Amino acid sequence: MQYDLIIIGAGPAGLTASIYASRYKVNNLVIGEALGGLVFEAHKICNFPSEQEVKGMDLVTKMRQHAESLGVQIVVDKIIGIDKTKNNKFKLTTQNKKEFFAETILLATGTKHRKLDLPDEDKFTGHGVSYCATCDAMFYRDKTVAVIGGSDSANTATLYLAEIAKKVYQIYRRDKLRGEILWIEQILKNPKIEVIYNTQVKSLKGSEKLEKIILDQPYQGKQELIIDGLFVEIGTFPQKVLIKELKLETDKKNYIKVNQEQKTNQKSIWAAGDITNSSNNFHQVITACSEGAIAAESIFKFLQEKKEIRASK
Ligand code: NAP
Repeated sequence: MQYDLIIIGAGPAGLTASIYASRYKVNNLVIGEALGGLVFEAHKICNFPSEQEVKGMDLVTKMRQHAESLGVQIVVDKIIGIDKTKNNKFKLTTQNKKEFFAETILLATGTKHRKLDLPDEDKFTGHGVSYCATCDAMFYRDKTVAVIGGSDSANTATLYLAEIAKKVYQIYRRDKLRGEILWIEQILKNPKIEVIYNTQVKSLKGSEKLEKIILDQPYQGKQELIIDGLFVEIGTFPQKVLIKELKLETDKKNYIKVNQEQKTNQKSIWAAGDITNSSNNFHQVITACSEGAIAAESIFKFLQEKKEIRASK
């Protein structure tokens, strides 16, 4: 199966690139491990223009439907290998043993949840420790939970959990929450929420499931906090696998370096969305979409030039 462009990643950046590419008549395919990337987990997005309040799942579903309405095929699979063929095309191999060929590649694989890296964190994952409030909040109806982190993901998780749980502690390592001020204002006036500042979680305790957390300093005279669930919302990091394989240049934090056109250091490879160092490192749905659009236009021009050169020979 031969394409002008294969987009790896089915989140806002990848889907927007696919919409733009399709309207430029660039024959493209989207391959993603999961639809929507991390945005799929957002229970509420309130800053995407034209959507006053929308679930992340609904927003990316609309993006997917938009791409599909233009004839795009979206394959849910994982790329496990990329090679260059003799005629300078990319050969992509997937976990389901499928092979696809492309002239150009757009990497829009986004980022993954950061973990606390505490002992027993993996053991308790799914047994009291979660990285997705939207997915797991319902298990904690009328229970006591804690959220770790002090930026938008933690803030939105805290607010969502406060709609369901009896009590929400938000544990933050600094003395003032950061991110969208509107979320912070809602947190500070919600009687179900208590923010514990200047504090980190030192360890997780429990037998079969998480029962309590140990703080690095006492809160209201106690170093331990008895909770039913812990939501880790401490940001994300870019996945390294394909970046390494494709020899893409990255910054110190492993985000792919791109130019104004979203081009990487490697010929015929572009990158867009949270995985890049573009958009002033402001990782938002709208900046991911914008990067996807810019990349698609740049790829279109590149392919046009290539066709013209071929035709003139
Ligand atoms: P983030 O902005 O990188 O924030 C991560 C938070 O976790 C920070 O408060 C950080 O503390 C804390 N943290 C990091 N490592 C930690 C550790 N080992 N132990 C304890 N705390 C730790 O990540 P994010 O909140 O996921 O947001 C990512 C991007 O998505 C941002 O651009 C954000 O605006 C966007 N987003 C937007 C919305 C929205 O509704 N607009 C919702 C979710 C995400 P420090 O503050 O000390 O660094």
